[in-house]
Amino acid sequence: MTCATTAIPPADSVDIEALRGKYRHERNKRLRAEGQAQYVRPTGGVVENFTADPHLPIAPRDLVNEDIDVIVLGAGWGGIMASYYLTQAGVSNFRNVDTAGDFGGVWYWNRYPGIQCDNDAYCYLPLLEETGFMPSKKFSDGREIQGHARAIAEKYGFADRALFHTHINALAWDEGLKRWRVGTNRGDDIRARFVVMACGVLNMPKLPGIPGIDCFKGKMFHSARWDYGYTGGSYAAPVLDKLADKSVAIIGTGATAIQAVPHLAKYAKQLYVVQRTPSSVDERPNPPTDAAWLAGLEPGWQAERRGNFQRAAMEFFKPGELDQICDIWTEITRNLSVEFAEHGWPEDTAAFMARREVMDYQVMERLRTRVAALVKDGDTAEALKPYYRHLCKRPLSSDDYYPAFNRPNVTLVDVSETKGVSELTPDGFMANGREYKVDCLIFASGFEVTSELERRWGIDTIVGRGGVSIYDHWRGGPKTLHGTMTHGFPNQFFIGYIQGGANASVTEQFGRQGEHIAHVIAEVLKRGARVAEVSEAAQDEYVRRFEELEMDMSAFQAECPPGYFNNEGELKPKWGLFRSWGEGWDAFMAMLEAWRDDGRLAGMSIEY
Ligand code: NDP
Repeated sequence: MTCATTAIPPADSVDIEALRGKYRHERNKRLRAEGQAQYVRPTGGVVENFTADPHLPIAPRDLVNEDIDVIVLGAGWGGIMASYYLTQAGVSNFRNVDTAGDFGGVWYWNRYPGIQCDNDAYCYLPLLEETGFMPSKKFSDGREIQGHARAIAEKYGFADRALFHTHINALAWDEGLKRWRVGTNRGDDIRARFVVMACGVLNMPKLPGIPGIDCFKGKMFHSARWDYGYTGGSYAAPVLDKLADKSVAIIGTGATAIQAVPHLAKYAKQLYVVQRTPSSVDERPNPPTDAAWLAGLEPGWQAERRGNFQRAAMEFFKPGELDQICDIWTEITRNLSVEFAEHGWPEDTAAFMARREVMDYQVMERLRTRVAALVKDGDTAEALKPYYRHLCKRPLSSDDYYPAFNRPNVTLVDVSETKGVSELTPDGFMANGREYKVDCLIFASGFEVTSELERRWGIDTIVGRGGVSIYDHWRGGPKTLHGTMTHGFPNQFFIGYIQGGANASVTEQFGRQGEHIAHVIAEVLKRGARVAEVSEAAQDEYVRRFEELEMDMSAFQAECPPGYFNNEGELKPKWGLFRSWGEGWDAFMAMLEAWRDDGRLAGMSIEY
């Protein structure tokens, strides 16, 4: 299959030097000295507490008091994939525990109108060949994704064991028991041999700490806790008819807002879209799954497609490889590979990177032209143009976002000059020296992704051997073997973007980590052992090698506006999402596989 061609402006028509200056200016304008400290966590009173569940009532249940092999903290994709692989490895004495009321993680909590995955669903939804499920279209709706998450848990037999509406608030290694004591907000006492931390990356909503946030008298909620009782409509049918006489402001213009704005625009009397940094928004053809394509798929197709996506989005195609994904995530690699086939491959890495940078400017220029073509008001169009490099922020797609600004009831409020909304008042918000009166403020302000662990995991204490807190242990940055275990915290495993490989499909990333972790747990149980711990020497050697191989992204980051990709403007953020194994995903996978095949659990001490 070949992708439809998207015309880009020729390289010599793009004034790269001028754009570089513009990018820097736009970045500097938004940098805030306080970085992450500009954000706060939603708490009761200001916006509903993040543990409150607007979707399902919390049912009473008996306390759980038990010894168990494994507690999987989380029932989002990380927890589901770990559980799937535990099951495959023959381990069944485990439970998922989650604050949410069901499986799905972000796809449980986020039910805002218009919610869809903006990655290719045939890559993003895991275990398609194993379960026989096929997404109905290229970009799945949130409900379809959450349904698939639950279906996996049911099919592989771990759905009924999960503890939902249960927040783990304390984890402590008990040296006498050689187990983790797991405390919850429901008062449970669980003694787990192993703990898998599948906390997620978008689990903790964040709010801008705007002065006056306590005195606003209207309705406020975070997009991850959508209140259909207030807006009207439902998750299944988001007809927001109760907004017909309301003035609404949505704060933020990231992936969430791009999807919710067209719905708010359709129903609200007045909508203010409050923008600090514009997103880049491409077109979004979303055809239904093609039956003929489906019929022709060969076994192994999903792994092959995911590999293709990974190479297009984060690495580069093999010679002659065609783009299977054909969207904004893959356009730069697709265009470059055509160009290299015609004009020859660059001589070295520096020449390759230089060529890539030019293509980046060409594609971003195309996206800016798209805004001008779709938004009638010139000033609004100009303010909506993204001036930064591709992958400084998540590339988005929507056919409905830009046209929403042509409606008479929709106003873009640009707050870039004040680095965000400057103040809330009892009746609304202040921006650019005037007050906007609104009935409702919706915070599409994102999640704690790269901030300190205490802020985003939301677990009060995690204490390993000798009473050491993991938060202190990793204060200077993560120290692990393979990104999955750390010295001093026996039988504890981590899933996430922590010192491992990085894959463009988050479910592939979490899945492979889950597979590796399940292997270690099954192996330790098979040997009749009680404790597995990474030695300090093995950990330190891994960290040394990781740092030696890591690609230095600081020059790239220096051109990017602040956001969660760079922890609000840092050049080398401690928890940066793209800080990964420098030899690439396949090499990282091969290293893990060789380690497992070797069979010695090298670098670990085992206690019986
Ligand atoms: P983001 O972090 O992407 O966006 C938050 C928005 O809030 C940004 O536009 C940010 O501006 C703005 N903001 C923050 N503080 C202020 C302030 N003080 N004043 C004005 N604006 C402010 O969060 P999202 O929820 O949109 O998305 C988070 C992630 O979730 C995505 O990147 C994606 O990974 C995932 N997601 C995926 C979806 C999918 O697959 N379809 C859909 C939704 C989310 P600024 O950029 O200037 O910081």
